Amino acid sequence: MKNKIAVKLTAYFSVVLLILSVIVGIIFGNLFKSNAVEIHKKNLENRAITIAETISRLTDGTGLNLGNMVRGRGMGMMMQGGLGAYFRNLDTIALADAWVVDENLNLLTIGTMSHMQYIYQDLPADADVVVKSVFNGNTTFSQGFSQLLNTPTITVGTPIKIDNKVIGALLLHSPVKGVDDAISEGYKILVFSIITALILSFILSVVLALTFTKPLKQINITALLLSEGNYQVKTGVKLKDEIGELAGTIDELSDRLKSASQESEKLQKQRQDFITNISHELRTPVTVIRGSLEALNDGIIEDTESVKEYHRQMLSESKNLERLVNDLLELSRLQNTDFKIEMQEINICDVLKDAIRSGHSIAKDKEIEIEYSFKDDAYVINGDYGRLRQMFLIVIENAIKFSYSNSKIHVQFDGEKINIRDEGIGIHREDLPYIFDRYYRVKTVENKKGTGLGLTIAKQIALRHNIDISVISEQNKGTTFTFKFK
Ligand code: ADP
Repeated sequence: MKNKIAVKLTAYFSVVLLILSVIVGIIFGNLFKSNAVEIHKKNLENRAITIAETISRLTDGTGLNLGNMVRGRGMGMMMQGGLGAYFRNLDTIALADAWVVDENLNLLTIGTMSHMQYIYQDLPADADVVVKSVFNGNTTFSQGFSQLLNTPTITVGTPIKIDNKVIGALLLHSPVKGVDDAISEGYKILVFSIITALILSFILSVVLALTFTKPLKQINITALLLSEGNYQVKTGVKLKDEIGELAGTIDELSDRLKSASQESEKLQKQRQDFITNISHELRTPVTVIRGSLEALNDGIIEDTESVKEYHRQMLSESKNLERLVNDLLELSRLQNTDFKIEMQEINICDVLKDAIRSGHSIAKDKEIEIEYSFKDDAYVINGDYGRLRQMFLIVIENAIKFSYSNSKIHVQFDGEKINIRDEGIGIHREDLPYIFDRYYRVKTVENKKGTGLGLTIAKQIALRHNIDISVISEQNKGTTFTFKFK
């Protein structure tokens, strides 16, 4: 059977129920037994008292002595009148073996349990004690007659009184066997009830165990499907206990795996695009350089001006190649966690000014002006001068690249953060979340030579310096990059 937890739970339930039943059975059995004996004694006592009262009323104040009697049936003694009739039926009335001892210690009547006739002096010592106690006015219990009656017997003795004077003793003997029978009958009912309860509880525990383990099974199935790469699955378990929490965690895991898989698919696609782009980017300059070199080598180009033009072209293409290769190298270096950057105390304002200076020379061609305003002239941080300059330059170069001619670029430092704002084409809202991703680039006229690596490199440098880099942009209005020191 696969559902081992359910089997275990059922076994645990059953063992606990069994132990519980045994404990309840023992406690109940003992209580029932002592209670049954108590009730029986009480009953016997009540009957004895009632009968004793009746006898004392029937004696008409004449007493119980032998003078009022004639010999009757069997071993018993008979009385005349109402009392005699009452004595004849005493066993039936008392529902027990009834003995009466008069004030002269004569056994007036003896029930049907004993087939012998006794005189008071024959009674064993235990029985003698009971009779004496009764003549002292007490109602007394004893098992001392058992030996005499040849069967375990409970005896109750109660005084028969006239005007508060004890004139005789009434003894009612009831065999213990009757009580034992009642007790064993009670036990049978108890055992039957416990077995019935155990069977029902077992069925219930199986149902409960299966109900309990069902969500666990669902969670297991979900986890298996997740491990097979199916990230759409959910456990569907809605419980407010630990199992519910586990299901919630698995569902969350499924969500995360799903988005991670989407992310990795996207990255895969971008990588593929990048390889296609990069191959193209690499092939173009290489083809141009090779073509030019072949033409020069074959002597097809001879006039000095054309040769110069070919050389210029080749130089420009080699620069493109160098840039691309450098970018790739740079990124792979920065992404290597072992790669150390030279940390030292630097004034970030100096770095910015240096980057702006480099930007000026490129901006000149498009007649773009780079303005800057710094709140303080010195803001010292621990960092790598060259890398930070590279980071700012990437953003400034982008700003120039995507700005209209004759526009302005504003670099501002308010003492906490640096803003680099342009008045260029802006970034489409859908592209905005991805611009820092590797290989992501928008293919526009302005960006023919883009590799999609610039901002990725900038982000890596920012990360290494604990700088938060963010962007806001509006199409055709401009873009602002913000650097915040954490
Ligand atoms: P690229 O080499 O293509 O410039 P980047 O990683 O530097 O790669 O930039 C990624 C993309 O972000 C660019 O292709 C461009 O679409 C967009 N972008 C970056 N800076 C700006 C800007 N200042 N204005 C408009 N678009 C920008």
